[in-house]
Amino acid sequence: MSESKPNILLIYTGGTIGMIRDFKTGALKAFDFKTLLDKIPELQLLDCNIETVSNKPIDSSNMNPEYWVEIAELIETNYDKFDGFVVLHGSDTMSYTASALSFMLDNLAKPVVFTGSQLPIGDLRTDAKENLITSIQVASLQKDGIPVIQEVCLYFEYKLYRGNRTTKMNAEHFEAFASPNYNELAVSGVHLKVNKKYLFNPHVNKPFKVHKNLNSNIALIKLFPGITKGVIQSVFDTPNLRAVILETYGAGNCTTESWFINLLEDRITNGVHIVNITQCSKGSVIMGHYETSNSLKEIGVISGKDITTEAAVTKLMHLLGCNISSEIFKTTYEKPLRGEMT
Ligand code: ASP
Repeated sequence: MSESKPNILLIYTGGTIGMIRDFKTGALKAFDFKTLLDKIPELQLLDCNIETVSNKPIDSSNMNPEYWVEIAELIETNYDKFDGFVVLHGSDTMSYTASALSFMLDNLAKPVVFTGSQLPIGDLRTDAKENLITSIQVASLQKDGIPVIQEVCLYFEYKLYRGNRTTKMNAEHFEAFASPNYNELAVSGVHLKVNKKYLFNPHVNKPFKVHKNLNSNIALIKLFPGITKGVIQSVFDTPNLRAVILETYGAGNCTTESWFINLLEDRITNGVHIVNITQCSKGSVIMGHYETSNSLKEIGVISGKDITTEAAVTKLMHLLGCNISSEIFKTTYEKPLRGEMT
C-alpha cells in the first residue's frame, strides 16, 4: 500500500463481467476472479494501488439481503485501509444492491462504485474494460486528499449515477441503466466531467456506521386494471407481513372501489405500512392531485414520491430493520435518507 496514490479495493461478487461460456450448454457461468485480472493488464497503468477480494461469485439474480450484508462487511472491515471501493456485480440486480448498500452504509465519506458489463471481459467486443477502468478512476478521484465522490454510485457505459436512483432498463444495449429522476453525477468522454452540484454531501463529522438488519417481510404489488380482490387479499394475508409497496398508476392513482380502499385501511389500522410508488419510470407520486389518490392519502398511505422500485424496496427493508416506531415511520420514509427521493 502506498501513502501517495489512492488505495482502491476491488470487490468481485459475480455477474457477466467475470463469466465464461459453458462448453456443453453455451450458458454463461461465473469463473475464478483471479483470472479476471489477468485479462486486463491495463489496470497496472492506473495511478492507484488496487487490491482485490471476492466472496462467492454469483449471477446477481441469486442476490439476497444476506449477501448485501457480506458486501457491507467487506467495506466495513477495509474502510480505514482504502480510499475507495469498486464493486463488480451482475447488472440484473445491481440497482437493488446499490440502493440497499446506500442505506446500509451510514455517514459514508468514501466512494463505493458499482459496475459490471453486458458482455464478459474476455469477449472481443466487451464493454467491461471501459466500465471497470473508469469506475476505478472515479473511485480514485481526490481533491486535497479528500475523495470527490462520497456516496454509493453506479458506473455504466460512460455515465456515473447515484446508485439508489438507478434502474436496469435494457437487457441488450451497453447503455443498460437509467436514472430517470436524477441527473448523472459524472459523464466520461474525452474528460471525466463531474457534476459537482449533484453529488451527495454526507455528515462527514459523524462516524461511519453499517446497518446490518434488513427485514424482508414485505411485498410489492403492481396494480393493473382488473386485478382481483382475491389476489390483493392473499398478499395481505401473508404471515408476518410488515409492509406493502403498491405500484400505482401515473401520479399515484388507483381504483376507488370500496373493497380495495377498505382492505388497505383495515391493514394500515393493524400496523402494516403501505407505500405508494408510481409505475411510470419518470415523475412523482402526488397523492391528492387526482380524486383517485385522495382516499390513499386520507387512510395514511406513505408517499414514495419519485423513488425507484429498487430503492423503495430496500429502504423499506432498511427502515423496518431499524425498528422505527409506527408513529414516525411514515414521516421517516417520506424524507430522503441518501438522496434517493426529491
Ligand atoms: N445475469 C447477469 C447477472 O446479473 C447479467 C449481468 O451481469 O449483466 O449476474
